[in-house]
Amino acid sequence: MRRLLLCMLLLIASPLHAAERLNVVASFSILGDFVRNVGGDRVNVTTLVGPDSDVHVYTPAPSDAKRITDARLVIVNGLGLEGWLPRLVQSSGSKAMVVTASAGIAPHKLGSGADPHAWQSVPNAKIYVTDIANALAAADPDDAEVFRTQAKAYLEKLETLDREVREAVAKIPPDRRKVISTHDAFGYFAAEYGIQFIAPLGVSTETEPSARDIAAIIGQIKA
Ligand SMILES: [Zn+2]
Repeated sequence: MRRLLLCMLLLIASPLHAAERLNVVASFSILGDFVRNVGGDRVNVTTLVGPDSDVHVYTPAPSDAKRITDARLVIVNGLGLEGWLPRLVQSSGSKAMVVTASAGIAPHKLGSGADPHAWQSVPNAKIYVTDIANALAAADPDDAEVFRTQAKAYLEKLETLDREVREAVAKIPPDRRKVISTHDAFGYFAAEYGIQFIAPLGVSTETEPSARDIAAIIGQIKA
């Protein structure tokens, strides 16, 4: 009898619970990961740009418009990272709320614009996560307490990560804290943890390095 009751409860509970899940679209995989950690099983998270794609120069597919239409919340980085997104949201006719996760951070200037890669500093990532938790709670007040609890646990993990990064960097002699990378995506990490990054590509992958940039990099690698 008890087993039968349990089966009935499961039958009743699971479709209902699935229907109650908040549909969230995140523009790219790292934001999707933040949303999953805060939202847990109370959200359905879809990311538009996957881990192996380039969010700077993404071309949305028709299926992306459908995902936006089905969403209650769209989480974006902002700071000019997803230039293709406003048109996608508009053309989808979606009534989803668009939330800029970087809203609470102080952006670094790079040339005439802002450096969009703000999540690379863990203290900034914590601001993103707090912004995302607030957005989820506003969209689904019934689950606000769950989002707050899960956000708190995830923020503690990020705190640990931040400590680990600082400890790892401290073990490297200051004059050797240099990294060569392909794309200048680590400005916030560099500033936060005192590491110098040297990159032949600019802040956006939309531009190609010049011969002079390449020559400078070769010189730096040799040095
Ligand atoms: Zn980038």
